Amino acid sequence: MSDWKSFTHEPKIAYFSMEIGLSTDIPTYSGGLGILAGDTIKSAADLKLPMVAVTLASRKGYFRQKLATDGWQQEFFVEWKPESRMELLPAKTLVSIENRDVKIQAWLYRVKSPTGGEVPVLFLDTDIPGNMEEDRRITDQLYGGDLEYRLKQEIVLGIGGARLLSVLGFTIKKFHLNEGHASLLTLELLAKARLPVEDTWDERASWETRRVMEQCVFTTHTPVEAGHDRFPYPLVKRVLGEPVPFPLLQELAGQKELNMTVLAMNLSRFVNGVAKKHGEISKSLFPGFEIHAITNGIHPFTWASPYFVALYDQYLPSWANEPELLVRVDNIPDEEIWEAHSGAKAYLFQYIEETTGVKLDPEILTIGFARRSATYKRGDLIFSDPDRLARIGEGKLQLVFGGKAHPSDVPGKQVIQQIFKHMDQLRGKVKAVYLENYNMDVAYRLIPGVDLWLNNPIRPLEASGTSGMKAALNGVPNFSILDGWWIEGHIEGVTGWSIGPPPTESSLTANDSKEDVNDLYSKLEQVILPLYYDDRPGWIRTMKNAIGKNAYYFNTHAMLRRYVTEAYIR
Ligand SMILES: *Cc1c(COP(=O)(O)O)cnc(C)c1O
Repeated sequence: MSDWKSFTHEPKIAYFSMEIGLSTDIPTYSGGLGILAGDTIKSAADLKLPMVAVTLASRKGYFRQKLATDGWQQEFFVEWKPESRMELLPAKTLVSIENRDVKIQAWLYRVKSPTGGEVPVLFLDTDIPGNMEEDRRITDQLYGGDLEYRLKQEIVLGIGGARLLSVLGFTIKKFHLNEGHASLLTLELLAKARLPVEDTWDERASWETRRVMEQCVFTTHTPVEAGHDRFPYPLVKRVLGEPVPFPLLQELAGQKELNMTVLAMNLSRFVNGVAKKHGEISKSLFPGFEIHAITNGIHPFTWASPYFVALYDQYLPSWANEPELLVRVDNIPDEEIWEAHSGAKAYLFQYIEETTGVKLDPEILTIGFARRSATYKRGDLIFSDPDRLARIGEGKLQLVFGGKAHPSDVPGKQVIQQIFKHMDQLRGKVKAVYLENYNMDVAYRLIPGVDLWLNNPIRPLEASGTSGMKAALNGVPNFSILDGWWIEGHIEGVTGWSIGPPPTESSLTANDSKEDVNDLYSKLEQVILPLYYDDRPGWIRTMKNAIGKNAYYFNTHAMLRRYVTEAYIR
């Protein structure tokens, strides 16, 4: 084991993220944002990029989901102990919160690649003797608590994270802010960027601001104004104090309240959205900013089921570190693609039987839908007309669901209840199950094991979406609203199918649910079911196209190469 100090020998890109999903047993993630962060770090290790990641220890995790018989969600802590699997780094740092010093320590986790690359991940932790009880809880619960709790977490992440890197001896070339949660780090950089000569206030501020901008890269993930973290200034004054003069803070972060996205945009030279469409949406949300687009990806080796790993290893050796090779998927015989898929399906069905008691039929077309249960994702859309669904799908369709709602998102929880209600109504006609506690482990079985991956968000709210990329990698075609990454990955009838109208500018926010629902049902009935049951070679061709035309490109290796050439080395 190399000494941790070796990590500080060369300058690094520091990747800051409130959540990072590396594996199920490090439960410090809630959904797509965290998984993306974890996948990014894994690709960085594969590619031997000089990176270090900074996140929170979240000792009580996000939560474990249980569902009552009526589908109502209950939440339980997932206590985990960083000390059981990480090394405590010897340096500590302090941040000022409500005018008192709060000590921060960091746990080191090493993400190691078979290529020999290694990326350190620092999990920040305030659970230290000497801190007030209240402060020891700051790094407990991911996205828990109120606005004040959130602000304290973001002080620890942004300011604490930057200070800790510095006391540990890291030299940082670029700070990459994965979403606005870490934006306060720009204030720390600003406070340190002192113009060497005395000058007028204005001159100094603009010189210092430019210097910080050179160091920062910001990725925004949310296409709605309400999704960005904002804090009222009285709260900021009381909890954070005044790390930079107040008029300057207001100029950089918003006059009325501290908007973390605006702060990051104003202090980052490179700003990007997570798909082409999302880049455009972000430009309209923040006029005047130059906003690029680098489409998200997934880590190939992590998300390929063991069945496809074996197949790719045999026919496309070194695919895992060179996923472009998946473009040559036609070298794999059809029967072997089908066999691998059948293996993944059986593996999922066994899990479903063990956890729910429901026995699904491997011969029946099975649709999967699992992601955070936020209302815009419309998890219950397929039940809009239960009679029609029963008519189309009786004996020909099975449904598998999964997903957690944020603990305070009551409408999101009600969507799960609705799904339960409809599953009940369709009993005897269309078999359906809802898998509890959707996490990386469940995703790893669920996504490769279904035949078709459904995604029906309200446009344009799915900034990118990544679960569909995991499906494609396992030969599972997407059936999705034209939003996020699917606008770029979709070729109708070739890589999968669209739902609803094209994503034209004029219908940017128009959402005709009726049109979406109608298209969903009619395409299912007239195109997808006949192809699956009557033209198996045609179906397998679609599976191969999902691999060769989607998965070869929508991965974090390709994504990171773009970050390097377009953002990091500039
Ligand atoms: C990939 C993944 C997500 C993201 O799913 P989207 O459909 O992109 O929202 C969320 N949760 C888990 C556990 C995942 O593995």
